Amino acid sequence: MTVGRALWRDQLSETEQASLSPGLPDNLNRRPDVLVVGGGIVGVATAVACVQAGIGSVVLVERDHFGAGASGGAAGLLIPEAHAHVDAPVLVNLGRLSLTNWQELQRILPGGVGLMHLDWREPDGTHHPQGRLNPLRAIASLARELEGAATGVNVTGVAVSGGRVQAVQTSAGEFTPGTVVFATGTPPRLEGLELRLPSHEVKGHMLVSEPTSLALPESVSGYASSIDGGRILIGGTLDHGDDERVVRPEIIANMWSDLEAAWPPAHEIRISHQWACFRPAHPDLLPVIDRIPSLRNAWLTSGHYKTGIMMAPATGRALAQWIGTGERPAEIVGLGIDRFSA
Ligand SMILES: Cc1cc2nc3c(=O)[nH]c(=O)nc-3n(C[C@H](O)[C@H](O)[C@H](O)COP(=O)(O)OP(=O)(O)OC[C@H]3O[C@@H](n4cnc5c(N)ncnc54)[C@H](O)[C@@H]3O)c2cc1C
Repeated sequence: MTVGRALWRDQLSETEQASLSPGLPDNLNRRPDVLVVGGGIVGVATAVACVQAGIGSVVLVERDHFGAGASGGAAGLLIPEAHAHVDAPVLVNLGRLSLTNWQELQRILPGGVGLMHLDWREPDGTHHPQGRLNPLRAIASLARELEGAATGVNVTGVAVSGGRVQAVQTSAGEFTPGTVVFATGTPPRLEGLELRLPSHEVKGHMLVSEPTSLALPESVSGYASSIDGGRILIGGTLDHGDDERVVRPEIIANMWSDLEAAWPPAHEIRISHQWACFRPAHPDLLPVIDRIPSLRNAWLTSGHYKTGIMMAPATGRALAQWIGTGERPAEIVGLGIDRFSA
């Protein structure tokens, strides 16, 4: 979950805010072809990808509001090139593919997804055209594409027999879907589901300043960014070992005083928003995108750590393709659950 006050919701229109909390529609399909559990950016993008792939009726359920988890507090940077030569090639390549998927969604969805251009520079000065978005705006835009979506629905258990999920129990009654995708941030702990893979969360603080006409110098560009309205964004920190659902004022103060030390005019600028959220992670810091072993009709995507906003559309498309064709797409080989079996 995201704690504190993130900037992103304040930037949304009332219509966009309403799209994040549709509640429980009376006519919600209880027997969809695909049930997606978890309304973070990955779950919403997966549900939309399944609709676009034409693999039948799709329902998305979320226990809170869409974007209530890590997604609603992320910085929203889409910079696959920052991961080149740093992270595993599978992550870099999926990230590059996903950025093109975001660009396509921006073109084809009515009103786009709020994708903004970001000019990202390598330490040697090489420029790359990358992207940035308000993650809640992107989620609201995607959620509007879904006919079957509900919030305030907590998934509590599954009934399994014959190697298939036959039913999904929720706080709003039972669903009997053809296929289930769990996109719950970290892997779900559900009655009836045998799924034990190692995961944890890494807390991160973020802050945004009041709008300012002062221009950030190039020397702090690796630490602080100028965003819409002349605001300054800093974060996120890596607060290993701190799982408490609170914003720590001393961490926010340190983040700002680091900026002031490098750029004294920051002393005149006030902080307007401060928040913390929790990156879902597996021990190797790579996501899982896989069918659940021993279940023919259940998939899991989890542990997107620092790059779930960037990865969401490519992850969703890979899952939709796998569900539709029965074949694991090549771009996600290496992101399986079996890497933890040893
Ligand atoms: C400070 C910070 C900055 C970040 N910046 C970036 C960035 O710039 N770019 C980037 O790409 N990534 C960034 N990330 C990472 C990104 O936020 C995550 O990787 C991404 O949000 C994960 O998305 P998700 O949909 O998998 O998980 P979540 O957003 O956590 O969504 C999972 C959802 O599932 C729901 N859920 C869980 N269990 C159940 C259940 N039983 N029943 C119903 N619903 C359930 C939860 O309520 C939640 O809404 C950042 C993260 C942090 C913390």
